[in-house]
Amino acid sequence: MTSPDLGELYQQTILDHNRNPRNFRRVVSANRTAEGHNPLCGDRIQLYVQVEGDAIADIGFQMPQGAGCAISKASASLMTGAVKGKPVADAEELFRSFRDMLAGGAPAPGKLAAFAGVRAFPSRIKCANLAWHALHAALQNRAEPVSTESAGDF
Ligand code: ZN
Repeated sequence: MTSPDLGELYQQTILDHNRNPRNFRRVVSANRTAEGHNPLCGDRIQLYVQVEGDAIADIGFQMPQGAGCAISKASASLMTGAVKGKPVADAEELFRSFRDMLAGGAPAPGKLAAFAGVRAFPSRIKCANLAWHALHAALQNRAEPVSTESAGDF
């Protein structure tokens, strides 16, 4: 093949972010946190967000050892990179755009489009969405943990 294989490029992005997740740390100054759980796969995420004024000043996440599959970890890595430094309203817009893409809508902006391929694997859609739902919960200041099996809009 001489033309670039887009599917393979996307796969590379996901593998890279799984191996070397960005913002994989606890944010000590976080003033919003959320916990997410995807019981179908066993993914668990703890999200730390520092909101200053109307913007996300810092963001990080952690997953217990062995409690995050490649898709969920790569998605959290790309999500944190995409919203860091952005206005909260823009982050919420990206959340909607990402969720719509996985539901069959238009590709989300930039590298987030790498997850469009996940649509072919319905059981992994919740893995890809987990970090974004945790972000949404953190920005809404929801106290209860997010579960893919209880959130109505998953
Ligand atoms: Zn998973």
